[in-house]
Amino acid sequence: MNELRECPFCGGEAEIQEPLYVAPGIVPPCLIRCGRCGAEIMRDTEAEAVAAWNRRAAGWVKCSPETMPKCGERYLVANGPIVKEAYLDGGNEWIDRYDITLRYVTHWRPLPQLPEG
Ligand SMILES: [Zn+2]
Repeated sequence: MNELRECPFCGGEAEIQEPLYVAPGIVPPCLIRCGRCGAEIMRDTEAEAVAAWNRRAAGWVKCSPETMPKCGERYLVANGPIVKEAYLDGGNEWIDRYDITLRYVTHWRPLPQLPEG
């Protein structure tokens, strides 16, 4: 059995879904779904689906009291599948460019470099 990582959006537990119906002579694709938020991924084989589900973009840091970045500087933050630019204020809250407090931010990362040319 392949080991599935937690859901990248909500941290929920994911599992491989059994197909509801399989036509004769057809190898069904493999579907992995988060039991909490419903995020899902489908690939031709279980190995491909597990590899895709477990893949994480480099550079993201999971929010925790030990891993928060410097206050006042801008970062990309992820709130489920939504990504925004925000900064951390002195009260440890993420604030977006419209001065709105973002709830349930799960990850942050440095801003990417601007395009050239
Ligand atoms: Zn989820």
